[in-house]
Amino acid sequence: MKRLGIIVPCYNEEEIFDYSKEKLTNLIKDLIEKKKISSDSFILFVDDGSKDKTWNKIEKENKTNKYVYGLKLAGNVGHQNALIAGITETVDLVDLSVSIDADLQDDINVIENMVDKFNEGIDIVYGVRNDRQTDSFFKKTTAQMFYKFMQLLGVKSVYNHADFRLMSKRAMQALTEFKEKNLFLRGIVPLIGYQTDNVYYARSERIAGTSKYPLKKMLSFALDGITSFSIKPMTIICGLGIFIIFASIIAMIYSIVVYFMGDSLSGWSSLFCSIWFLGGVQLLCIGIIGQYIGKTYIEVKDRPRYIVETFLKNKK
Ligand code: UDP
Ligand code: MG
Repeated sequence: MKRLGIIVPCYNEEEIFDYSKEKLTNLIKDLIEKKKISSDSFILFVDDGSKDKTWNKIEKENKTNKYVYGLKLAGNVGHQNALIAGITETVDLVDLSVSIDADLQDDINVIENMVDKFNEGIDIVYGVRNDRQTDSFFKKTTAQMFYKFMQLLGVKSVYNHADFRLMSKRAMQALTEFKEKNLFLRGIVPLIGYQTDNVYYARSERIAGTSKYPLKKMLSFALDGITSFSIKPMTIICGLGIFIIFASIIAMIYSIVVYFMGDSLSGWSSLFCSIWFLGGVQLLCIGIIGQYIGKTYIEVKDRPRYIVETFLKNKK
């Protein structure tokens, strides 16, 4: 039988921890009873430098609950890095892993389905939301726009899939080979290859605690996703430049013709409008290029993605 590790990144999740550990423990016990996973399977709570009592709770639970493991990171490195930390630190311990957010907004009842598919030989199983009723109108539309835009830029990603997925050991190993610091896992995982499949579920609302993804973080995450996976924005800049050059040549020809017809175009406001317009275009383009240079700068420094403070496993 195969050993499962459920990886749960937690940042300031003291309010929901008890609920989540209870539900996940029951799930693990159930799967063990049904002989779908081995009895040394576990839930790994990755504490991403929480400032509240999350780690105390994990530590306490680990003493009494043999299914609960804890990984404490030395500081807050963000959801994606916390996830890769969990995967990297457990890849040698498990045969398969499932990653899920601490608030269990994703339906844990489909994990059994995922495990079944794994047992049939699938390496990566994506959890895919089949409705977004619980999301606000704003979150729904922005998320949709983001997916569409990514598609337009040629980034392969699974529609309506976040970071709820099952991975086999070899898929996890492959993932740890991707050394980039600008992590956008849902873009990277499809690059691994292997056989994949989807399970569908309805996403529920957060039961306690608050979302750790306010609009500002969401936007920077989306921007990260785009600039980490596609250099098309720079191609678009080139196209824009060529278009503006042609447009100005036409304007030049027009004003010369008008001049030789004994007339001249009057007014300086059109002149400074165009200067301001072009100034804006140039700044925007420099900004976009700057994004890529910034990315390169961060990659070149090659700093560690996370630092482990403590790893609590099962005593036995
Ligand atoms: N999270 C994390 N580090 C952070 C921010 C968030 O590990 O810096 C975790 C958080 O504890 C949760 C998951 O990432 O398990 C997703 O966050 P959240 O549920 O707040 O996002 P939302 O569902 O609102 O998009
Ligand atoms: Mg959530």
